[in-house]
Amino acid sequence: MSDNFTIVVHGGAGTILKEDMTPELEKAYQEGLQEALNASYAVLEKGGTAVNAVKAAIVVLEDNVLFNAGRGSVFTKKGLQEMDAAIMDGSDLSAGAVAAVRNVRNPIELATEVMRNSNHVFLSGKGANDFAIKQGIKLEPDEYFFSQFRYDQWKAIRDSDNYSLDHTNHQLEELMRDKKFGTVGAVACDIHGNIAGATSTGGMTNKKYGRIGDSPLIGSGTYANNKTCAISCTGHGEMFIRTVASYDVSCLMEYKGYSLQEAMEIVVHDKLMKLQGEGGMIGVDAKGNAAMVFNSAGMYRGVKNSTGRNEVLIYK
Ligand code: ASP
Repeated sequence: MSDNFTIVVHGGAGTILKEDMTPELEKAYQEGLQEALNASYAVLEKGGTAVNAVKAAIVVLEDNVLFNAGRGSVFTKKGLQEMDAAIMDGSDLSAGAVAAVRNVRNPIELATEVMRNSNHVFLSGKGANDFAIKQGIKLEPDEYFFSQFRYDQWKAIRDSDNYSLDHTNHQLEELMRDKKFGTVGAVACDIHGNIAGATSTGGMTNKKYGRIGDSPLIGSGTYANNKTCAISCTGHGEMFIRTVASYDVSCLMEYKGYSLQEAMEIVVHDKLMKLQGEGGMIGVDAKGNAAMVFNSAGMYRGVKNSTGRNEVLIYK
């Protein structure tokens, strides 16, 4: 047990450049991140658990239309919103995840329900939606998730049948310039010295064939283990899956003795870069140390802790 607690959040990484931003939009992003930090801080301050703290932050970000998770999720090739989310408790390695769910107001609530009240870790598609209904998880009509910004992004590329996830593909480069990585994530360390991680996303614009990214995959986009770290990633999911990015940070700490910061830098700047895996990650360890590392132009991010640190950042 320590008296320190820390929350770190992200709202996606990518080609986020000051010159593309209006002062109003910048302020809206900052306020959204701050609101998530505050919601989570309120949980931790009362002695709440890291799991409840990360969930509180994610709910705020899912409800905010600016971010690509919950309301405001990107459109699939078929013009739908299919969302992925995961949560993990570092104190006992319990985890819950959902993929390709539709109409679930807060996919992170559903992932938490999977963790707490099912015998499983990972549910997908219609089955996950059936479980949501059975557990009384809040649903919303399609219109709730709509945002003009994401719709226009999708409209610009939806007819390009040759779109693929090949990073050399021109369509994808266009998308990257469009700041497509708007996934949200949170990691926290509570006063009991327990840590947790959570991630939620609409995935990638124009995704098809039931594509699922790294976000809901335990060990890739999301991981937590009290012995090492809690991590949430954002970026080009395929590379984060191939590098098993978040578990690799944990392994570097556990088996090689690296600090959180060092381990994250190796994964983000070396291992991911070798695959041209653009993006970043946030992390905490059980002492409440925080780190935010990315190899893209920017990452929406923020950190708040019990010793008075409170920062919201966007660019390098
Ligand atoms: N990592 C997410 C995915 O590939 C995208 C993101 O971070 O915005 O689905």
